[in-house]
Amino acid sequence: MFAACSPKVVPKVSEAASSVVPPVALAVTNKVYSGQKDSLLSLAAAEDAPMIIDSAGNQLPAEWVATVNFGIRKPNYVVLHYTAQDSLGQTIRTFTLKHTQVSAHYVIGKTGRIVRMANDYLRANHAGVGKWGSITDMNSCSIGIEIDNNGKEPYAEPQIKALIYLLKQLKTNYSIPQANFIGHQDWAPKRKPDPGPLFPWQLMAANGIGFWPDELLVPAPFNYDYLTALRLIGYDISSPKDAVVAFKRHFIQTDVTPVMTQLDLNVLYNLSKKY
Ligand SMILES: [Zn+2]
Repeated sequence: MFAACSPKVVPKVSEAASSVVPPVALAVTNKVYSGQKDSLLSLAAAEDAPMIIDSAGNQLPAEWVATVNFGIRKPNYVVLHYTAQDSLGQTIRTFTLKHTQVSAHYVIGKTGRIVRMANDYLRANHAGVGKWGSITDMNSCSIGIEIDNNGKEPYAEPQIKALIYLLKQLKTNYSIPQANFIGHQDWAPKRKPDPGPLFPWQLMAANGIGFWPDELLVPAPFNYDYLTALRLIGYDISSPKDAVVAFKRHFIQTDVTPVMTQLDLNVLYNLSKKY
């Protein structure tokens, strides 16, 4: 689900169309895209001395000397979303309208069709406000993937198959740790429900994408400090109830009540040793 979108204002476009977006509309949005990309690249390539001011308001001596050893920063997380919209075309449309202010690097249709909408090295607006571990700006270090799903239906098999191939490739390309594939609900427990309890995290983990509890669980210790355990995995525990629900939507799925049962505690204890 988008960080700050309002899907109601976006007209529906059928996925059956051979092109997801009409060529005329694409020509317009491509022009906006190019202009924005050029301005970002010139910003990244700026060669200025740093402007550092001391407590008296004086500028410290500073200069620019170009190093010869540098590269581009890589994404280190992947955040998975469902679109909460009705079709791939509708989502593509949302992400090509300036006023929605939302985007993702990839959108995956129910047929397994993969649409890339921003280069992996660029920052897309998909995660919004949240916290995971010590990360407070997830958009700056992650790739966002939107899965075409209205949030109430099972994920389509060809879609999940395509997603796994994509995730494996991203994992290899950028050496993304297995723990760093998370859901939007994990990043923003107070605001976001996606990709929800129907998302096949167990299958993902079997493919090296994120973790899943073992079948045999050692009981959690008596008086287990589950909030600290949730925090160490990455959850924002400022609202304990929301953190518990987010955890259960990801790792329990069959029960998403805001209460930690003995099974939930055992699962968390098991997972805490993997992160
Ligand atoms: Zn989302």
